[in-house]
Amino acid sequence: MVPADRSFYITTPIFYPSDVPHIGHGYTEVAADVLSRWHRQAGDDTWSLTGTDEHGQKMLRTATANDMGPREWADKLVQESWIPLLETLDIANDDFIRTTQPRHEQGVAAFIQKLYDTGFIEAGDYEGFYCVGCEEYKQTSELVTGTGKYDGELVCAIHSIPVELLKERNYFFRMSRFTDRLLALYEERPDFVQPDSARNEVVQFVKQGLDDLSISRSTFDWGVPVPWDTKHVVYVWFDALLNYVTAVGFDGDEATLNRRWPATHLVGKDILRFHAVIWPAMLMAAGLEVPKQVFAHGWLLVGGEKMSKSKLTGIAPNQITDVFGSDAFRYYFLRAIPFGQDGSFSWEDLAARYQAELANGFGNLASRVIAMLTRYRGGVLPAPGEASERDLGIRETVRRAAVEADLAIERMAPHEAVAAIWTIVEELNGYITLEEPWALAKDPEQAGRLDSVLATAAEGLRALAVLLSPVLPKATAKLWTALGAEPALGLLLDQRLRAAGDWGKLPAGTTVQALEPLFPRIDPEVLNA
Ligand SMILES: [Zn+2]
Repeated sequence: MVPADRSFYITTPIFYPSDVPHIGHGYTEVAADVLSRWHRQAGDDTWSLTGTDEHGQKMLRTATANDMGPREWADKLVQESWIPLLETLDIANDDFIRTTQPRHEQGVAAFIQKLYDTGFIEAGDYEGFYCVGCEEYKQTSELVTGTGKYDGELVCAIHSIPVELLKERNYFFRMSRFTDRLLALYEERPDFVQPDSARNEVVQFVKQGLDDLSISRSTFDWGVPVPWDTKHVVYVWFDALLNYVTAVGFDGDEATLNRRWPATHLVGKDILRFHAVIWPAMLMAAGLEVPKQVFAHGWLLVGGEKMSKSKLTGIAPNQITDVFGSDAFRYYFLRAIPFGQDGSFSWEDLAARYQAELANGFGNLASRVIAMLTRYRGGVLPAPGEASERDLGIRETVRRAAVEADLAIERMAPHEAVAAIWTIVEELNGYITLEEPWALAKDPEQAGRLDSVLATAAEGLRALAVLLSPVLPKATAKLWTALGAEPALGLLLDQRLRAAGDWGKLPAGTTVQALEPLFPRIDPEVLNA
């Protein structure tokens, strides 16, 4: 039994506002949203956080290049790009944190002061190659020789832009002290970093031994001032990671912090080390609990290249949702890509799955059942007769799908959850083909059997609406209304997911309503454009 008040707190990385939102950002947001909607509807004490990372030299430079102050620049980007992204994808986040908010800046100052007071932060000199794209000093092994415009220069392997040799009097976080404790953590809690490929990479990295980490900058001033030496600002990553606790009451609201923390962090593979090495070391130094889990999802590839603005393969999420709708975006990325692995996006694959799985599979099933109830029973759900072998088979499919989907969500495998739920769509479509309700309707002696078939199909749709609501919130809301389920059962979002597989909830006498197509046919000319 899962306790009813179990806490589930999930975070996305906070986004760098000067980026243009692309489907990689959308993928992370949707994955976090499906997981949090699932837990929320399962009755867990759920909190989902996203936001923006607004400090650092890179922000200052882009703001200056756009003739704006950094705060003004961030305000504009958050309003024009990042809040709209959440609306485009139907994200039901509980909070949106910006690292320029007072709640965050105060928390960062309190955290760093605490580490300074307890001897985990010391002054020192640092010289190294700095990438403003990464906002970090790079090891020489992380640099390559540039080509084209930067021919012969040392460039960052990720950004392909020249690095700068910087020397600074800095404050250092004594991260080297945490090498052994981190290795013990990975050993004792194999689930701490997942999937296994990510965990292995982190373990190998930490086994080489950790260096102390430079955590202040004095060459620019766009950041949180170091409280005891205000010529310095806090290193942007050290600042940014703290959003996960400053958003839930660190430094001021102990009760909220205890209720929410620790979190599950969804991250891209490229920022895994920040979350799985630096962040838990920071928390250990402050005497706080480490995260519940750091889960690295894969990269989206388009034509074999990682999605990013610098590689010019960026696709804006609304290019997809304008044609297919937000439900299809959510479904496609969770269904088509095993969570934790890299996945390829293609318009052809999206269009094919939209047509075969959403329109012909689920959408058509829903409209057929509602239409048959209307045509054969005046829109009123009949009471079923004695269950046949096939009827019992559908009940078992529904029961099993609900259990398996919940287990899949627990192991951070939403693609497997959707696949488990989809067995109901497939079995119900097969059931209707075999039972031929249109033939039963012609024979008055089969009226009782027709009642059972229609009641079984409607109850299957009831379960599908509940189980798919975290993934397809818009389509399932329409289906819930068409089923006439609300008067007897209440709001769709109040249906407990872990009881979704229980049979016989939609009562006889329920009145169905017309259902507009859940996944309308897409004009082929739009697809070919
Ligand atoms: Zn870089």
